[in-house]
Amino acid sequence: MREPAGGLTPFRRLLRRLRDIMAADLPAEQRLQQTVSLIAADMVAEVCSVYVMRAGEVLELFATHGLRREAIHKTRLRVGEGLVGDIAAHARPLALSDAQSHPNFAYRPETGEEIYHSLMGVPILRGGRVLGVLVVQNRTRRHYTDDDVEALQTIAMVLAELVASGELVSPEERRPSEGTGLLPIRLEGLALNSGIAIGVAVLHEPGVVLTRIVAEDPEAELDRLRKAVLGMQTALDDLIASADLAQGEERDILETYRMFAQDRGWITRITEAIRSGLTAEAAVQKVKDDTRARLSQAMDPYLRERLSDLDDLANRLIEHLTGSETRPKRARAPDGAILVARSLGPAELLDYGRRRIKGLVLEEGSPTAHVAIVARALGIPVLGRVANALVKVEAGDSLILDADHEQAFLRPREDILAAYQQTLSDRERKQRAFALTRDLPPVTRDGVRLSLNINAGLLIDLRQVAETGADGVGLYRTEIPFMVRSSFPDVSSQAELYRRVLDGANGCPVTFRTLDIGGDKALPYWHEEGDENPAMGWRAIRIGLDRPALLRQQLRAMIRAAAGRPLSLMFPLIAQVSEFERARAVLELELERAAGRGEPLPERLSIGVMLEVPALLWQLPALLRKVDFVSVGTNDLQQFLFASDRGNPRLAHRYDMLAPAMLKILAGIADAAEAAGVSAAVCGEMAGQPLEAMALAAVGFRSLSMAPPAIGPVRAMARSLELGKARTFMRSLLDSPEASLRARLQSYALDHEIAA
Ligand code: PEP
Ligand code: MG
Repeated sequence: MREPAGGLTPFRRLLRRLRDIMAADLPAEQRLQQTVSLIAADMVAEVCSVYVMRAGEVLELFATHGLRREAIHKTRLRVGEGLVGDIAAHARPLALSDAQSHPNFAYRPETGEEIYHSLMGVPILRGGRVLGVLVVQNRTRRHYTDDDVEALQTIAMVLAELVASGELVSPEERRPSEGTGLLPIRLEGLALNSGIAIGVAVLHEPGVVLTRIVAEDPEAELDRLRKAVLGMQTALDDLIASADLAQGEERDILETYRMFAQDRGWITRITEAIRSGLTAEAAVQKVKDDTRARLSQAMDPYLRERLSDLDDLANRLIEHLTGSETRPKRARAPDGAILVARSLGPAELLDYGRRRIKGLVLEEGSPTAHVAIVARALGIPVLGRVANALVKVEAGDSLILDADHEQAFLRPREDILAAYQQTLSDRERKQRAFALTRDLPPVTRDGVRLSLNINAGLLIDLRQVAETGADGVGLYRTEIPFMVRSSFPDVSSQAELYRRVLDGANGCPVTFRTLDIGGDKALPYWHEEGDENPAMGWRAIRIGLDRPALLRQQLRAMIRAAAGRPLSLMFPLIAQVSEFERARAVLELELERAAGRGEPLPERLSIGVMLEVPALLWQLPALLRKVDFVSVGTNDLQQFLFASDRGNPRLAHRYDMLAPAMLKILAGIADAAEAAGVSAAVCGEMAGQPLEAMALAAVGFRSLSMAPPAIGPVRAMARSLELGKARTFMRSLLDSPEASLRARLQSYALDHEIAA
């Protein structure tokens, strides 16, 4: 901060005077006007203005010292428009000595601001949302320092209380009209954990209203902080100990979270904010808002995800400081609640109690967010990235969460509710039926045994091998455990992890895939220039071959973990046979190294590639002479084949997996592999859809790997299929000019009583 610690510094004196103005018995706009004059004088600025966010994302000038008074309530800027709009859009400060040369400068003649060269502005934040913008301007080209920005941010915190109080603009005004009605709404999002739930919405609103912002005695505040941090840490230890979670990644996540709570940098920043004159709780809030503003701009998805953990901690600390009762209240959330939150930390989810929460709807989140992984461990469906969920949903609303179709229905109509109740009970009935068939082999009616395996990425997924009766793990995505960690695992921790994977599979075969990182699968500790086209960028085996130490370490760990047991591994995104040969040479080196050191080697080795880049299809004969197996990654293969981004929702239904082109290519792979005596599997999402699985079996695949819930339905399909007949039918269709064979395959399944 710009003022030294101790004594009543001029800055603290300013904060006190601001507090007195806030407490004065005057209309809100008058208090705001007094405030801007005081700030202008204190910061030696010719102009100080406050813009307040109004309905429709418009920032309106509410008070100014220095600009023309007529501009008040007339000057309005959209979020993103002008420098003020830019500050609001990015929720970050701007400090410019030559504001007019900034590309976003928007001149407003009514304000008369052309004579001001420099500008410093900060967002007025409350709970991470932008409520307005506070700006100072100077006639000269002034260089504002970091301390100036910090000071203005602290002042903005005090103003946030006034804006949030609803005396200037009613909070109702900011609600989108959609949210206030009682009409049913369909919400869209991203499935972070599959499943369906029907329940009552509970809003997760950690926002404790801070009543004290400015403190009299910093030493007393520091003392309160110390006590609260200790109290919070003890309570967290208890919570984590009582969470009763397995020893998988979810436990590691909670341990990492606990370490955040002890982070010196975080505590130091709070301490500094207290020394500048804030109460301990306001200081925690300020650091939380600053961090959110900074990190939400970060390109790195890992960092953005950690925001929820940090918010969780900050809220927890504020509760300890203010003695508020939110946590016990959470534990009393009604049974069958569907929790709606902007973001949630893993410990906050545990606060609610694992049995109460049926589903989770988040405005933010990603599949590797810590809360998503803990929810997966608890079997709670999660829909993330639901825009404005918290403003649209009212507490107590009835809510259907359908993560399987990436949607939720708010205040659903009776018929939709009835349909979902039916779906849920059908699903439960089917799951019970599938559980009963768990031990029946997936043998077709004409006696062909298929191999059904699960795709996994976390230790918690492994219990599904036994629960579904799968044959093994056809694809273990090793990047997933890398993505949820905060640092690169060394060889021994990787070996430990792979050992636990093999143990968890209980003797069933596991096929490890080497790291498929890069592109959009970012690791927090891996900072490389971003690719323009990540899916086709520097990813997967390309990184492994260019950074062989990384690949060597991973292979060394796999060899160590498999000691005395079979080891099956494959390399992702191989585009040329030569890439496979180079990767294999790295493996040979590691095998020699292990043998040279007298370490126990795997009992048996099976080496394969993922077939997901079309170029490799024209090298099949050469490739098949060198590999033990191939596994087709239909997710990537289809996106490259049709030049159709697999993550783009607008293209999701444009090209069908059951297009003749796709099936003909798959048939070619199966035939070539059979002729070469090499086993061929499919491990893309396609393998988990019964109709698609039927088509795959019909073109010649005998081994399929899929998400665990698909095993039951695909087994039922297999057991009702007469493969020989289906094969003949399928072959007759491959040259069809149709865009998709789906309809024909559906009628075939119906006519032949195949459960597809
Ligand atoms: C695929 O591409 O089909 C595949 C299974 O790999 P991933 O989805 O991990 O890219
Ligand atoms: Mg792939």
